[in-house]
Amino acid sequence: MGQQKCAVCSYRVWSREAVVFAHGDLMHEVCFKLLTAQQTLRDSRTVILRSRDLIEKAREAVIRQRALQDYAEPS
Ligand SMILES: [Zn+2]
Repeated sequence: MGQQKCAVCSYRVWSREAVVFAHGDLMHEVCFKLLTAQQTLRDSRTVILRSRDLIEKAREAVIRQRALQDYAEPS
């Protein structure tokens, strides 16, 4: 087996080190965890942004509905 390098940090992966194969890439377990944590962070940011967007749309819908009711039934 030749020189095995980590797909994340490019440092050599020694056979005694814990390694992980993800999508066919060889990497240190620590590097894999770091990569996964970064992905999770990105995913949660996306979810937060999407939630804000949905809240804003819902708020607009409520305002529009109230405006229509006021127009239909003026007090
Ligand atoms: Zn590494």
